[in-house]
Amino acid sequence: MPHASRPLFGPEHQSFRDQVRRFCEREIAPHHTDWEAAHGVPRELWRRAGELGLLCAWLPEADGGPGADLLYDLIVCEELGRIGATGPGFPLHSVIVAPYIAHHGTPALKARLLPGMASGERIGAIAMTEPGTGSDLARIRTRAERDGDHWVIHGQKTFITNGHHADVVVVACKTEPERGARGVSLFVVTADTPGFSRGRQLHKIGQHAQDTAELFFDGVRVPADHQLGEANQGFRYLMRELAQERLLVSVQCQARAEAAFEGTVRYTQQRQAFGQRVADFQNTRFQLAGLWAELQAGRAYCDQLIARHLDGGLDAVDASAGKLWHSELLGRVTDTCLQLHGGYGYMAEYPIARAYVDARIERIYAGTSEIMKEVIARAVCDQPAP
Ligand SMILES: Cc1cc2nc3c(=O)[nH]c(=O)nc-3n(C[C@H](O)[C@H](O)[C@H](O)COP(=O)(O)OP(=O)(O)OC[C@H]3O[C@@H](n4cnc5c(N)ncnc54)[C@H](O)[C@@H]3O)c2cc1C
Repeated sequence: MPHASRPLFGPEHQSFRDQVRRFCEREIAPHHTDWEAAHGVPRELWRRAGELGLLCAWLPEADGGPGADLLYDLIVCEELGRIGATGPGFPLHSVIVAPYIAHHGTPALKARLLPGMASGERIGAIAMTEPGTGSDLARIRTRAERDGDHWVIHGQKTFITNGHHADVVVVACKTEPERGARGVSLFVVTADTPGFSRGRQLHKIGQHAQDTAELFFDGVRVPADHQLGEANQGFRYLMRELAQERLLVSVQCQARAEAAFEGTVRYTQQRQAFGQRVADFQNTRFQLAGLWAELQAGRAYCDQLIARHLDGGLDAVDASAGKLWHSELLGRVTDTCLQLHGGYGYMAEYPIARAYVDARIERIYAGTSEIMKEVIARAVCDQPAP
């Protein structure tokens, strides 16, 4: 697919992309099916990625990171999307979890945890969702109570990406339950803390190589400096950091949609029906032409969102609109592309079949499409009309 030039990326980004692409093609793609069966990727892969500077690339050298910029992490996300890899939870680790610690952790906590996250020795996860609530985070029930120099955490989380392997978990807890959203605080729990345990690996309909787990906190005692930022400000921090999380979903959806499209062009050029290529039917041509136009729009929109974020101007509404639009784009693209594969599109060994089921979660996690519409509608409908 001919891509419009992407002025956001300089030559140094391009050579990094080439390096990541080689890594993905050699060290991820050939093993991904095995990892789908194992419901996770080996730890060694994380260490390799760390060695190559593929983790927490944005993290300043002073904090133990490579000291590059966020575009490098987004390149990793795009290249994983390009090969349809869902197993390596690098983007969540680098772009979502590490920033909470880097932005809100004490110097001592950062020094203890961040170098290991950049090297791949420590895997990160974020635990907000609970069995009883996901969209309505103000209703979480996991409690943290102060006890001298420690906090003691009781509760349960579910659907946690990287959960089975995580060494470092950012946990949203209630510190003043009666205050609703104003009583939420964030804590870091390391997996070696007594009282922390993991439940079963959750069996999903897609993204099989990604490890998704339940986590339990049974009187987990963490030192006071494991609290991120100020007490009862957790909801504010979540709302601020969620803009970057939602941007990441836009980036990964656009990359996955482009990959599904390109694979479908190749397939329809090879497959014959009624004495001609499937790509020769007018229906196929029009479907692909329509998707191509949508992908061009999606690319321009995505890069505009990235540019605004790098300038510090991406707010919650813009990020939510992007997440809504790109996750729904991916759904449309994978559905149409699967149809153009005919019955082979329904066979699990075909990349488009996996892309189709893998895509479905994008409209749910990091805030559902309905919640994205709520966020946008508040800005659109509750402000005085221009
Ligand atoms: C594979 C996977 C990975 C995940 N990874 C993580 C992770 O790493 N960390 C983490 O904390 N969470 C994670 N999640 C959880 C995910 O973010 C939640 O599932 C999601 O936010 C929705 O919450 P819920 O499942 O409780 O659905 P609910 O909140 O129960 O929603 C059910 C339905 O009601 C709708 N709804 C809810 N409120 C409103 C409203 N106000 N207006 C209109 N409709 C509404 C929703 O849109 C949805 O359609 C993951 C989930 C999955 C499946």
